[in-house]
Order: sequence, then C-alpha cells, then structure tokens
Amino acid sequence: MKKIVLTTLILSVSLFARINVVASYPYLGKIVEAVGGDNVKVKVLASPKFDPHFVIPKPSLIPAIARADMLVANGAGLEIGWLPPLLKRANNPKVRIGAAGFVDVSRAIHLIDKPKAVSRAYGDVHPEGNPHFDTDPHNVLPLARYIVKHLSAVDETHAAVYETNLARFSSHWKGFLKQFDAKMRTCRGKKVVQYHELYNYLLRRYGIKPAATVEPLPGIAPSSKHTMALIMKMKRMHIDTILQDPYHEKKTAKFIAAKTGAKVIILPHDVGAVGGTGTLEAFYNTIAERLCH
Ligand SMILES: [Zn+2]
Repeated sequence: MKKIVLTTLILSVSLFARINVVASYPYLGKIVEAVGGDNVKVKVLASPKFDPHFVIPKPSLIPAIARADMLVANGAGLEIGWLPPLLKRANNPKVRIGAAGFVDVSRAIHLIDKPKAVSRAYGDVHPEGNPHFDTDPHNVLPLARYIVKHLSAVDETHAAVYETNLARFSSHWKGFLKQFDAKMRTCRGKKVVQYHELYNYLLRRYGIKPAATVEPLPGIAPSSKHTMALIMKMKRMHIDTILQDPYHEKKTAKFIAAKTGAKVIILPHDVGAVGGTGTLEAFYNTIAERLCH
C-alpha cells in the first residue's frame, strides 16, 4: 500500500513539476511561455533596456542558470561576450553547450549577412551572420517549433502538451502575421538608414532598403568622417528615415537628421525595449506602426 502511495506521489510530482527554463533575451522568454504553458517556469537573463551584445554578466544571474533544466539562447554569436562566463560559473551539466538542455535557436534560422571574410578590420562583425533575426515576426514560428522539439526531449512526459500548445500558438501567430503583413505593405520601396544592422531581416522581407548604418562598421562608434559621408549619401539617395534603437546614443542620429531633414524613428529591438511592448504582438505592432504609419 505504502509503495502504491509513494509511486502515485512520484508520478504526480513528475506530472505537475514545472521545468525551469532560462532564456537569454525577453522575446525568447515569451516564445517559451507560449509553447511551454503551465509546464515551464521561465527566467529571462538580459534586460531589454540595454545593448543585447553587451549584457553585464552579473553574478546574480548565476543561481537561475545553476538550477535550469533548459537554457534557450539566441546564438549566432549574440551572447558571446556575456553568456559563456555565466555558464562556466553556474557549472550546470544540463545546460552546458552541447547538452540536451542547451538550445541555440539560431539553428532554426537561415542567417543573412554572413561576412565574406572575418577580420577585426571589418569592425566587431557577427562572424556567423546577422544574429538579429528576432526583429522579423516571420521567424517566430520556426523558433517556436525548434524550442518545442527541445522541450519535448528534456521533458518527455509533457511532449503531447507542448505539441498542442504549439498548434494553438501557430494558428494564432499565422493570424497575427496576416495583419502584420498588411500593415507593412505601405512601406515597400522605402529606403532607410539604421544605427546598427538590427532590422535587416524585417526590412528585406518587406522590400525596404537598408541603405547604410550610422555606425561605420558593426560595433564601431560613429566617426565624423563616416557621418559626413552618410549625410551626403542620404541627400543623394533622398533617404528620409533613420532607424534608431533605444540603447545607443542618439545625438549622432539627431545631428544627421538636422542636416538632412530626415526623421529619427526609435524602434524596439526586443520585447519590452520601449514602453507598451510587453508582449510579442505589441513588440512587432510597435515596429510596424512606427515604421509604416
Ligand atoms: Zn549586432
């Protein structure tokens, strides 16, 4: 009798135990919550208020990684400067790079902007390609599917639940994409300058030309020589829009705007990066509304 009670107890504990998932960035946390539902407990490491390339690897983030069953990372080198030291100190074999619980979602995406040659002379390049695929909402479903594949492997007991959640989320997201595509249609053919190549996946999908960047090279701060050349280029090409992320300095963009008559648009780069973007839907809708009003 005791044995039966104990077995039932263990079974129910494993059925109701939530798995601990750590996500590097807020948008990943939202996707994990959407497909994980009640079976996951999600902790996001990076604040959307700061530069995603240079997150401070605070020791206070270590305990969450140490008890995680799964870690979901953007990958493509975006966390290279801050996640490896945290992983090392957390010393959790479940989420070590290469373990079943370490999920690099960039594997689900065909990366663009792969440099032909990798050299520091080309700036702080993303050697694996552009890691900012989260700014295109069409990438959300491949990421969700990839996360579910790994969730089901880490937590086999609930594999069927994750599949059901994925089906529900997919149908919701396809509906959202239809509305989003309609909002973006008015922007086709537009030419823009952006501070860093954060929005390339989105811009290319919707036929918007990313003509230049405020940074002379990825990760390199603006120089007066580059800024002057950029002003000339914008005048020549009649570019009237500068896309500015919320975390870089804004005075260069404002200076260029004053010289060219262009408008500076602050676009979020992640869920929660600007006010009113606390959900995936609000994040993408804010991009569409600010870019294609
Ligand atoms: Zn970048």
